[in-house]
Amino acid sequence: MLNLTRTAMKESAATMVILSPTLWILRIHWGGKSLICPNTRCPGCAVDRGKLKGYAIAHRPDRPESTAGLIEVGPDTLRQLTDRNLQPEAARGFAWRMERRTGTNGWKVIATTHMEPSLPEPAEHELPDAIETLFALPFRIGTDGELVKPKDPRPWLEAHRRILTTRISLNLKELAK
Ligand SMILES: [Zn+2]
Repeated sequence: MLNLTRTAMKESAATMVILSPTLWILRIHWGGKSLICPNTRCPGCAVDRGKLKGYAIAHRPDRPESTAGLIEVGPDTLRQLTDRNLQPEAARGFAWRMERRTGTNGWKVIATTHMEPSLPEPAEHELPDAIETLFALPFRIGTDGELVKPKDPRPWLEAHRRILTTRISLNLKELAK
């Protein structure tokens, strides 16, 4: 199972390359923990619009020991990457260099390019698998135990809508106490 790849606190520069065929953009609500917005009839959106974050399987070509891992791209970096032509539905090979002042959170994207990654393309289900694990969502969705692992987040969000909505409602009740 793929773990979340994080940059270390002390790191002031990093290079990433996306390995997965796609990058998923999910709206995340924060209420003491990260909760995925179900997009339709969301009780969280009535309170605030949340933040868009990107999820992909990537690795660090600047780190020889780097293996494939799930990355979470924050809203500011995501905006900088989409401004520089990141195509979420054809993301494999998109690479970027980012820098920040040590100890602060504000990554600045310095350069982007396309490259042939040195690691193989993960199977299509690996990105939704990793996101399911990160957010502790159920593995089996769909009917008759059929695994639904679409390459697009929208049908996946729809399949998870009930549990996502319930979680946000419970969280809002908890926060209102
Ligand atoms: Zn929402």
